[in-house]
Amino acid sequence: SYDEFYVKSVIRSLPDWPEPGVVFRDITPIFKDPKALRMVADAFIQRYMNSELTHIACIDARGFLIASIMAYQMQKPLVLVRKKGKLPGETVHQEYKLEYGTAAVEMQIDSVGPGDRVLVFDDLIATGGTILAACTLIKKLGAEVIESAALVDLPDLNGSIRIQEAGVPVYTMLAYE
Ligand code: IMP
Repeated sequence: SYDEFYVKSVIRSLPDWPEPGVVFRDITPIFKDPKALRMVADAFIQRYMNSELTHIACIDARGFLIASIMAYQMQKPLVLVRKKGKLPGETVHQEYKLEYGTAAVEMQIDSVGPGDRVLVFDDLIATGGTILAACTLIKKLGAEVIESAALVDLPDLNGSIRIQEAGVPVYTMLAYE
């Protein structure tokens, strides 16, 4: 069963990466630890197994890794929110602000549509900009975001509060103050 202490012991904290003063929370060791990966994936599956969601939208790139396990087990369609320029065919596009400059995410126009109830999934919420941009794309396509979820929240950066203030419920499994 899910053990927060164990999962936190597997996540690695890298001071001064990618720049001085930032502590990067590196979740990649979870994928190297089958016990931790199973704990995390099973806990998310349990939360959403009997929910009314119709699609899981996962965010480039670490969001893909956990969400694809969820989609497989829950037998739900998985759709991708990718960094710009990665998806072929017609896409919707949303820019968002970073500390320096901007970034953009895209979805294929046939990924979701009216009547769909979508869970947005990423590995981590910092400022919330990425998940908010993903929510904007899903709404542009006519679908509804029923919740956004991430493994890790960094509450000091207020991202989960920003997302909630935009009217989207947020669920995170653990937090680093
Ligand atoms: P936000 O848009 O500011 O909420 O940043 C979240 C996005 O940046 C997610 O897609 C994360 O993968 C990535 N990210 C930001 N900070 C970290 C971190 O400390 N560890 C891992 N990923 C991070």
